[in-house]
Amino acid sequence: MDHFSYRQGIYHAEGVAIPALAEAIGTPFYCYSSATLTHHYRVFHDALASLNPRICFAVKANSNLGVLATLNRLGAGADVVSEGEARRALAAGIPAEKIVFSGVGKTKDEMRFALEQGIFQFNVESDRELRALSEVATHMGVKAPVALRVNPDVDAATHAKISTGKKENKFGIAMDHAADVYALAAMLPGIRVVGISVHIGSQLTSLAPFRTAYRKLRELVLQLRDAGHPITRIDLGGGLGVPYLQRDAAPPAPAEYAAIVRETMGDLGATLMFEPGRLIAGNAGILVTRVLYVKQAAEHLYVIVDAGMNDLMRPALYDARHEILPVREGGASPTTLTVAGPVCESSDVFAKDISLPLPAEGELLALRTAGAYGASMANSYNSRLLIPEVMVNGSDYALTRPRPTYDAMLAAEQLPWWM
Ligand SMILES: *Cc1c(COP(=O)(O)O)cnc(C)c1O
Repeated sequence: MDHFSYRQGIYHAEGVAIPALAEAIGTPFYCYSSATLTHHYRVFHDALASLNPRICFAVKANSNLGVLATLNRLGAGADVVSEGEARRALAAGIPAEKIVFSGVGKTKDEMRFALEQGIFQFNVESDRELRALSEVATHMGVKAPVALRVNPDVDAATHAKISTGKKENKFGIAMDHAADVYALAAMLPGIRVVGISVHIGSQLTSLAPFRTAYRKLRELVLQLRDAGHPITRIDLGGGLGVPYLQRDAAPPAPAEYAAIVRETMGDLGATLMFEPGRLIAGNAGILVTRVLYVKQAAEHLYVIVDAGMNDLMRPALYDARHEILPVREGGASPTTLTVAGPVCESSDVFAKDISLPLPAEGELLALRTAGAYGASMANSYNSRLLIPEVMVNGSDYALTRPRPTYDAMLAAEQLPWWM
């Protein structure tokens, strides 16, 4: 469910007409719907409400301050993977005691920063990282609250680049090695063991891998508790998928997911934590782009738009597909065409041979489900200006990240001193 729809033939974000935004901001841009963000957060929260969940939004999915502040107001915490993300979460008002620090390669500087802030939990991914964290904490005279991230060796059946829970992936500690690393954690002076965590991948469209992983995790929790480790928090990660194309089967509903959590974790008396990213933000954002040119090349009819793979990397990176809609309904009858960006790479294609009314030059298109892993991955390849982000709330809008100027782009660099 989302709040993007046609009104009198014009695509709207809530009460705001997309052409009006394009006029005000220029294209391309991301547009987020507050109501949709709120809806998705509430649906997820309410499904789990009886389990008293701690929901830490995965900031890497969308790190826009407006999005984070909106979620903060709803009570969300944050799951961060760098000091930069931690600073964003804090700047958006999310208190440190609701922030979890994940990631396989935290630096000591990042650990120090997080400890100074009083972060809720570090999810630690190796014995080496554990030793480094203990050292940093000991120097500061504190103990770092730690959950070890274990790797349950399950196939998440998602795209290889976003599968994280197989034993060959770089993430987590192998389950059969976990007891040893917990024993180490119990001995290290700067570590306070508080729990365990798992995250098996992203864009999961089936619940079976969650059930398998959570059953394995449950067994491990019982064993670790028997060994005397205080596993009082269980962080179950994120990963629930969202529908990208109209023809896609509906992904698992949060309520069905919650049933699995209840079945596997409900009686453990632990604080349950969740790190959804895509599920909250995915359908809450669209990418708006303008058609520059239409050109025929061999057997493909290309529609060249002003957004590129630097603005939305998912198609080039993950072979992802986004639903593409004309902002003005009721153009020509559908034809087969390929939508491509201006970046000098053959992978800068958003959709190949899709059926869409042939747009005229200057027309606007909307790429749906672009609220997660869209703007947060955007870059300025080809020296294109970083794409702006706008937030809509009812009939209001606010530019939460303006498009930089070319002067700002150039001012960020300098010639070597000898030139
Ligand atoms: C990416 C990530 C998430 C969020 O995944 P989604 O698929 O967006 O829900 C949660 N936890 C960790 C550790 C991650 O790396």
